[in-house]
Amino acid sequence: MGRIAYVNGRFVPHSEASVHIEDRGYQFADAVYEVWAVFGGKLADAEGHFVRLERSLGELSMPLPMSRAALTLVLKEALRRNRVREALIYLQVGRGVAPRDHAFPKEPVRQSVVITVSGVDRTASEARAAKGVGVVTTPETRWGRCDIKTVGLLPNALAKQKAREAGAAEAWFVDELGFVTEGASSNAWIVDGEGKLRTRDTNANILRGVTRRTLMQVIADEGLQLDERPFTADEARQAKEAFITGAGTLVLPVISVDGKPVGQGVPGPVAMKLRRLYIERAKATAI
Ligand code: PLP
Repeated sequence: MGRIAYVNGRFVPHSEASVHIEDRGYQFADAVYEVWAVFGGKLADAEGHFVRLERSLGELSMPLPMSRAALTLVLKEALRRNRVREALIYLQVGRGVAPRDHAFPKEPVRQSVVITVSGVDRTASEARAAKGVGVVTTPETRWGRCDIKTVGLLPNALAKQKAREAGAAEAWFVDELGFVTEGASSNAWIVDGEGKLRTRDTNANILRGVTRRTLMQVIADEGLQLDERPFTADEARQAKEAFITGAGTLVLPVISVDGKPVGQGVPGPVAMKLRRLYIERAKATAI
């Protein structure tokens, strides 16, 4: 059986799934999304992603398209129909279909809801983490509301392409003061010379990562020190370790920045331990 997608109330073969040409998500990026890691068929960090989804929608004056309970059922049904237990599940909610006009439709229209599921090879992910990945830096060019998880991701896509062309896995945006803001699809972290964890504070123009938030609880439980403060690319290279977090990457060691090694140029013990502890916690609390 092939992949199945959910589009506006129906489960359809992934290859045949489509949206209307005047869907406002397609024409104006007037839509938001969430991505959950799925372990053993269950949604990791479910609550955190729902809270952020509602917040993103609220910032764009949109409601949840259905109750949280109903949405959970639909997400679970999508997983069941795709017959995968280790996956990423993507949910996109948009303002809907309306004749092209920048301002919102005068009469509210039915919101667009799309869900896709991709299987994840956990063995390959662990092998990738054990090797570590490189990142490249790129100037921060995004709009001022990166806290809203919208599908307006062109700068992120361009940054990711730059990374790919350089043989790296992620791009870190760097602001005009030289500080790393976040990755194109992840939050950025270092372990500084004193062994303190450092990641940028969320007063900055970044996404409030759900994995980031859960990892902070792990860090507190481990009695490790955390400093919510920005760092430069140079500081990252001089750090003991660096890593990224996100629903897709979980906790992934970074071994080089712009081709120059971080620390010894291999995944560090703190990042690897935090990865293991994060995954344990995510599995234990998944619903
Ligand atoms: N920052 C950006 C720009 C992202 O796109 C993502 C995830 O897609 C993250 C950070 C990490 O967020 P989360 O941990 O909630 O997946």
